[in-house]
Amino acid sequence: MGDTRYGCIRNGHTRSAYTRRDVVKTLAALPLVRLERARPELILYNGRIATMNPAQPDATAVAIAEGRFLAVGANKEVLALAARQTRRVDLGGARVFPGFNDAHAHPWASGLEALKYVACDKTSIEEITAALHARAADTPPGGWVQGYLYDDGKTPRVLTRADLDAAAPDHPVLVRHRGGHTGYVNSRALGLVNAKAGMADPPGGRFERDAGGELTGRVADKALDALTAKIPDELTRDDHRRAVALISKLYSSHGITSVCEADTSPDGLQGYQDAREAGELTYRVYCLIGVDYLDRYIGAGVHTGFGDSMVRIGGIKQYADGSISERTAWLAEPYVGIPDYTGVELGTRESLYQNSRKAWRAGFQLATHANGERAIDRILGVYEELQSEFPRRDPRFRIEHCTVVTPELVARMRTLEVIPVPFAGYVNFHGDVLHFYGEERTRRMFAYRSFIDAGLRPPSSSDYTASPPSPMLWLYSETTRRDPSGHVWGENQRITVQEALRSITLHGAYASFEEHEKGSIEPGKLADLTVLAQDPLAVPPEQWLDIKVERTLLGGNWVYES
Ligand SMILES: [Zn+2]
Repeated sequence: MGDTRYGCIRNGHTRSAYTRRDVVKTLAALPLVRLERARPELILYNGRIATMNPAQPDATAVAIAEGRFLAVGANKEVLALAARQTRRVDLGGARVFPGFNDAHAHPWASGLEALKYVACDKTSIEEITAALHARAADTPPGGWVQGYLYDDGKTPRVLTRADLDAAAPDHPVLVRHRGGHTGYVNSRALGLVNAKAGMADPPGGRFERDAGGELTGRVADKALDALTAKIPDELTRDDHRRAVALISKLYSSHGITSVCEADTSPDGLQGYQDAREAGELTYRVYCLIGVDYLDRYIGAGVHTGFGDSMVRIGGIKQYADGSISERTAWLAEPYVGIPDYTGVELGTRESLYQNSRKAWRAGFQLATHANGERAIDRILGVYEELQSEFPRRDPRFRIEHCTVVTPELVARMRTLEVIPVPFAGYVNFHGDVLHFYGEERTRRMFAYRSFIDAGLRPPSSSDYTASPPSPMLWLYSETTRRDPSGHVWGENQRITVQEALRSITLHGAYASFEEHEKGSIEPGKLADLTVLAQDPLAVPPEQWLDIKVERTLLGGNWVYES
């Protein structure tokens, strides 16, 4: 705990109002654990509380003071701590978990997209082009029309350059895939970067061609970056605050109280601070800093851990390859049905090493995006080299996504105690693209079972907007490995419900060095919890996807009530 004020005691000497037998009986089932001194401001009772604290797994009541849990135990004992001004809330038997943790997501950037762009999470090409056409009508000629949340796995065919030319002939159009690594553009947009049939692709990027060699309008990674560099930055400081405020509402409605923001610029960090000061930030954020800004943070004397329990500086974020849902991950063997194509390599080993070394020596945690085996092998090599050159006692190297592994890679991760941060809901949400990887390879993808068996602590993550920030989806996907059609991908990687719950709570806290502050409901920890409308531990997995959050508590305050 670090703070002696929060020394825990097993309470065996209070509450004369009950018979000794009552007390002993209850204590046997639900030991009361409390802190000394403070008076509770709030008591929640009559809940079915899964604390995720192995020393006291179940409870029915909690007392809260100064934003932290003061006592955890049975109704009678906890209610007996109430003072005159203590608010009491009857949970009516509802299931309660610690606040959920999304260990890798992009809520701030998603918020900007939601404020500015056309939502393209639709299942027909016609609906998408109609929405873009309507936006173009409201946009001066030559101005950009942008869409987001497009998912080519969810439309009958893939969006084309011709579709976008027809929708907005007088405007450059960019529709971003929800995975964030690819976009779909029209001829006006391609003209702005002089992209032509027959040209060479930039390193780490791809302008896709059809069988006849013509540009399809699909652009990947560095080719997408070349296009976005042409879009004027018209965002204001207030836009960044509004973006964070908007997505805060979404996250709280899913019972998520902690998020690792997986690529933050100084503007984004300012947006977080502004939203926090305005009372609009309703989750705790651990900000991975984009490597392009590393020197600015080193110059300011800031490194991992700076900040407080609401807004904290996390590690340095780099990229070693592309994306799984958009088929740009850098694989050891080709994608199924795309001969000779093994994805996109981002950065060189040398650039990854030099950036990592600089960040490491300045006191940053390292967090590198690596999906395919070749990208994972490369960054693991960098981490191994750094740990032998400049050893750190508790390095907690992170590999973001860490999707396609081999037993040899997992063994190396185990030696270095690396934290893999897998996509939690992909088998279910992106089951429609897993055929590009093939049955056999999915036995080595999103490898929760392998990681846990190796003693590693994988958290759960959405990579939102890449997939929804929905812990019930994660629970379902991790334990069943079923896609929406019922097909099972990589059954060998299934984990138990308890393991999945640990991943969604405690492991997320561990990945940001905050396991002493959150991830379980126990005295001294931050009073973050989620109350569900139905109990996933009492109904079959098929019903979990429909389970709603009833209320979300952050630091002792309700930030969401359905
Ligand atoms: Zn990401």
